[in-house]
Parts: sequence; structure tokens; C-alpha cells
Amino acid sequence: MYISPSFHKQVLVALNYKQFTILASVFVLSLPLFSQRKLYYFSGSDWCVSCIKFKKEVIESNKFRGFIKRSEIDFEILDFPQRKKGLTKSYINHCDSLASLYNKEGSFPKLVSVDSGEAFTHNLKKAIPFLLAEIDSIFSPLINKIQSSKKIMGSRFKFTIKNRADSSIIFQEGWSLIEKIEKEISSWDSLSLTSKINRNAGLSPLKVPIEFFKLVEYCKNTSEITQGAFDITVKPAVKIWDWKKSTVPSEESVDSVLSIVGSKYIQLNESDTTVFLKKKGVELDFGAVGKGYAADKVIQMWENEFNLNYGVVDAGGDIVAIENEDKLHVIIPNPENPNGVKYEIGVSANAVVTSGDYFRSFQIENKKYSHIINPKTCKPVESSVSSVTVIAPNGLMGDALATAITVLGEVVGIGLINQLPDVEAIINKTDGSEFFSEGIITTYE
Ligand code: ADP
Ligand code: MG
Repeated sequence: MYISPSFHKQVLVALNYKQFTILASVFVLSLPLFSQRKLYYFSGSDWCVSCIKFKKEVIESNKFRGFIKRSEIDFEILDFPQRKKGLTKSYINHCDSLASLYNKEGSFPKLVSVDSGEAFTHNLKKAIPFLLAEIDSIFSPLINKIQSSKKIMGSRFKFTIKNRADSSIIFQEGWSLIEKIEKEISSWDSLSLTSKINRNAGLSPLKVPIEFFKLVEYCKNTSEITQGAFDITVKPAVKIWDWKKSTVPSEESVDSVLSIVGSKYIQLNESDTTVFLKKKGVELDFGAVGKGYAADKVIQMWENEFNLNYGVVDAGGDIVAIENEDKLHVIIPNPENPNGVKYEIGVSANAVVTSGDYFRSFQIENKKYSHIINPKTCKPVESSVSSVTVIAPNGLMGDALATAITVLGEVVGIGLINQLPDVEAIINKTDGSEFFSEGIITTYE
């Protein structure tokens, strides 16, 4: 559902997460460049009514044109008008010869993509985004993309860039950066900066690098705007609700952590970039945003150090892309008819983050416990939100807001998103209902 190089993306929100990520990366194989990337359009410009309509709605649409341009596809119109006036003999012969190859049945309008000698006919009845996705899926493997994948930060990450001589260095720098970030922010690593801050809680402030300081500051601010739904001091609660052990903690232990969870305990001093946890026992945890943050940093590094104009980091479902004119394009298909587009999201964004309970929740005695904690109760969220997709300018923001919305639920969550610029959200509930923020434009049904 993602198509490259423009990296269009379609989220099967109502279906499952796996599909979302698999399809996000399915077109990004490392293959040699094929010279033949042709797309033919068979048209009867002066007699075929549906051709005229198709031309207006698809061929001349900005979306189609932009797509063709960006994909570097050699697009050619093969016209078979009734009045052949003005057409050269060689053009007519050319069209006839291609028709005998790819359009023997003489159907109009018809799009045929040709790669490595095999013709593929597109189903014109499809909605435009699907049509483009389909065309792209044919061509993308031929466009010089290269991918690298690794299990890191507890998730499978995938990098995709355009192939070039120093691709392996670009990948390696990306992996090294993520490793560095993980070592720095992981609250599970006793040598990390986060662990040092945690050990210093109630004792003394710790000087941290400016980048780290900004991360903590962003998280603290986000805690405020989400009414405490997102809170990086949730760690003591995360520890007692240890879903690896699948045990429910006693009410007493829940009560005991309530007094040490809260962003108000984070004291930041910008002038010397120090972080101080004001109360003993307070602990930071970047578990909710680590992946999105790391993906952002890789993207930034690729842009700044390698001048990349195309790059995608799929951080186990948190997808961040280098900003280009395409941005991320999200299509929500109709769950009842996967070929029909239900919604298309027209929003400017570089990150699409999905957080879902179906792959991270745990179950004890038939009760499902979310991996997201409500910081107010220090208990797992009990809302019936099953997945949240946030479309945001960066992965950190997307990640933080996805967690917050899971806690806040659809009404308050959507209300919050509607107040924030450049962010959109899609919420799926366990009963199958869906909720959309205001910027999500319904274009097809
Ligand atoms: P998802 O993949 O669903 O986004 P993440 O792995 O990103 O899930 O986030 C889950 C982690 O976030 C938990 O393991 C925990 O460390 C942390 N967390 C849980 N609840 C909150 C919360 N309310 N605010 C901030 N962090 C949280
Ligand atoms: Mg997350």
C-alpha cells in the first residue's frame, strides 16, 4: 500500500498492523536499474466517452502527473482517434504495433505498464489512489531503491534509500546512530543517561547534551498539552505492570507509585542543560517515543550529512520519511471492500505512527491489559481504542500523541488533535468504529 519513490502510503487501519508495515516496505527491494519503465495509455480521444472522462479525471490530474514525473516513468499516450488528421504515418504505425502487442482486444481506455517485457493491464475502474499504487507497485522495484533492515530497540527497523555508491555507509551511519541513541535513552540500560538521571532523582541535577535536553523538554511539554496522558515519568508504573511476568500488581503497589509519577517532578534548567527529578523514586522512560525519536534523528542525519532527498525509516511501524514534495500520503480503504478507498488523507506530513493494542497488549485470566499506562491511575488503559494512527511532522510527535490518544480515548483524543496544527489522527475502536480528526478529507467512498 505504500508506493515509492513518492512513498505514498495507504493504511489498512481497519485491517491489521502487519499488513500496514509489510506493505509499507514491500516495494523497496534492491534491484538493478531497468531501462524500460514504460507506461502506455491507449485512448480514443475523439470517440471514446470513457477515455475523455478518464483523461480528465486521471491522466490530467495533478496527482497522476506528479506521480509520473517523480517516478521517472516513461509515459506515452497511444491515441487511436477516428479522425486521424494530423497524425504522422510513423506515429500511427507505432501505435498499431503496440496495440497488437498490448491491446489486441482493443479496449479503451487502457493503461499498460511494461517492465522486463511483461505487460500489466491496470483496472481502470479503481479509484485513482489505488490505480497509482498499483502502477507504482509494478515500477518501484525497478527504481533504484535499496533497503537495510535490523532488529534494534526491540523492533525491526527498515531503512530505504535510493541506491548510490556510498549506500552501505549511509546505512551504517544510521544503525550506529540508533545504537547510540538507544544506549543514551534506554531506561533499561543501567549505563544510559536516562538511568543516571533516574539514580540522581531527589539528589542532584545532571548535565545532559542539548539534544537529550530538548527531548526531555518536548516530552514534558507534551505531557502538559495532553493533560498528563502522555508522561515519561510513568516508568515506576510500567515496572509494576510487568507484562512479561503477566501478573497484576496489588492495589498497594499501584498506590505507592501514584506519588512518584508526574511530569511536574521533572525540573529543567535550560541555561546549563540540566535535568533533575525532584523526588526520589521518580524515573524517566522513553519507551513510548524512542523509536519515533530515533527515526527522526536518522532522517535528519541523512539529510544533513549525506544530502539525501529520499529516505524512509520504518521503525517497527513508526514511519518517518525525508521531506519531499510527495510527503506521506495515506489512504484508508474501505474495510468491506479493500479495492475501494474509503478515505484519503490529504495532509502534509513526514511521519505516520501507528500504535495498536493488538500486538503489544497482554492477557491475564481473559482480561486484556494495554501496554499503555494511564499515568493518572498508574494502571493500564482500559479504553476500547484498538489502534491509533497519527500523521505528524515528525516521529517523536507522532509517537507521543499516539500514546496520549490511547489514554485519552476517541472523544478527547480527537478534540486534542483538532487543536494542534499539522497533526491528524485516525482512531479505530474494538467495535470496528473509526474516528478521524478534521484534516482528514474524505474524497472517495
Ligand atoms: P506502541 O508501539 O504501541 O506505540 P510503544 O512501544 O511506542 O508502543 O510504547 C509503549 C511504551 O511506552 C511502554 O512500554 C511504556 O514504556 C511507555 N508508556 C506506557 N504508557 C505511557 C504513557 N502514558 N506515557 C508515556 N509513556 C508510556
Ligand atoms: Mg510509540
